[in-house]
Amino acid sequence: WPNRYLQWAETAQALHGPRLIHRQGGEPLEGLHWVAHSANAAASLGWPADWWESVGPEGRHALEVFAGHACWPGMAPCATVYSGHQFGQWAGQLGDGRALLLGEVASPQGPQEIQLKGAGQTPYSRRGDGRAVLRSSVREFLCSEAMHALGIPTSRALCLVGASTRVARETVETAAVVTRVAPSFVRFGHFEHLAHHPQPGHLAALAALVDFVVEEHLPALAHLPKASTSPERPLALLRYAAESTARLMAQWQAVGFCHGVMNTDNMSILGLTIDYGPFGFMDAFDPDHICNHSDHAGRYRWRYQPDIGFWNCGALAQALAALVPDAAQDQSDGQLALLDALRHYEAVYETAMTERWCAKLGLHTVQPGDADLAQRWLKLMAGQKADFTIAFRRLSKFRPDLAPDAPDNAVVRDLFLDRRAFDAWANDYSARLALQAESQALRAARMDAVNPWVVLRNHLAQQAIDLAQRGDFSEVHRLHTLLQDPYTERPEGVRDADFPPDWAAAIAVSCSS
Ligand code: AMP
Ligand code: MG
Ligand code: MG
Repeated sequence: WPNRYLQWAETAQALHGPRLIHRQGGEPLEGLHWVAHSANAAASLGWPADWWESVGPEGRHALEVFAGHACWPGMAPCATVYSGHQFGQWAGQLGDGRALLLGEVASPQGPQEIQLKGAGQTPYSRRGDGRAVLRSSVREFLCSEAMHALGIPTSRALCLVGASTRVARETVETAAVVTRVAPSFVRFGHFEHLAHHPQPGHLAALAALVDFVVEEHLPALAHLPKASTSPERPLALLRYAAESTARLMAQWQAVGFCHGVMNTDNMSILGLTIDYGPFGFMDAFDPDHICNHSDHAGRYRWRYQPDIGFWNCGALAQALAALVPDAAQDQSDGQLALLDALRHYEAVYETAMTERWCAKLGLHTVQPGDADLAQRWLKLMAGQKADFTIAFRRLSKFRPDLAPDAPDNAVVRDLFLDRRAFDAWANDYSARLALQAESQALRAARMDAVNPWVVLRNHLAQQAIDLAQRGDFSEVHRLHTLLQDPYTERPEGVRDADFPPDWAAAIAVSCSS
């Protein structure tokens, strides 16, 4: 169980002073039981599907280890400190208030960090109890694996342990521990923490953190000189984070995913989706959809996500700015270099987003006018509150060789109350598709490979949670299996892929988790 972050942090603490991690175990829970495992996530680590039945050399069962009660030899659990901007405001010191890094597993994709969420209090818990409830843990488990299956960069979920220990939220719920897997859980907030606490040693630790991430996670940038000697690594890291965040935002937008809490402490330096909380996949398309009930100003509404991603990269740039201007360079050069690295965000996002919308419309190449055609489709969907997932999915059944109002096109056309608005757009869409020499079947197959048939809608997660809270985990397992293949229509998922029931609109998901 190597733990490069722990090793790095202990060295940096000793050399430079600032406290970066805290070694500790979890706080015991009562009534431990398995809720779910992801055989897929285990396979990605090179583990067998029955790994969870393992007992370590000292007799410690996997259930105890992944609840944070015990360690297998070599594990050195620790919590890390970070800071961040929450809802646009500097929030000061935060940290792993309920997460413990157990160590790393060598996988075919390189070393993966294994992290428990909900294992108990740490020095960074502030007023929190260090726990996660079963409800939000089921959501995180299912969504991590569903996002991965959609092809979107994300932390994975290896397993989910339930407990009988009671936890107070709006109501009394029970505790759970999710095991998350990612190459790194370093956040923008880790950098902000060191930049915005101007004690001696923090700047040196900031440079060391840049070097750690570059050397251990971004080998393509490791030829650049150390961050303590040159601004090249901080600038390259910023550019990497900006570009991968921009691509991630395009992927979120394309499936109607809203994260809900895009604070800088929830932004991965590697551009992964992390910290699933009050997220939501849109049902009826509303660009102003706010999935987080606690987000009163709607800062993190669907439509703003790409801009917020950019804003967050700006906060990262501000943190890294401490390493950029120096005596060798006049201030304005350093600032310009930062802005230049940041500027890549916009171009990468625009290109990635246009490519995604075009692929979702079944267009092979991006031609002049295609971005506009896509925007008009989105506007049509929004104006008619068409179901985001269903409208895109059904579009592969559209027949451009027939009139928009032909009976065979009703499957798409009937999603829109304003049939004339649909027909106007559909005529242009047909004309555009006519420029591609391709059979209907081939185009449909390509579109169905990028427009998911089924996503983790809130009401699906809620049904699984309602049963899980009564001790029946079958619906968690069924959804987990179904969402592993979100692009293929199967009889067993027809209801899940259908329109949400009316009560789905009333589900309120908040920061409480
Ligand atoms: P979040 O908004 O979920 O990203 O959480 C923001 C910060 O609060 C992070 O540093 C979390 O570790 C911490 N936190 C959230 N919930 C709890 C909890 N129940 N106990 C301790 N810390 C928590
Ligand atoms: Mg968080
Ligand atoms: Mg959270």
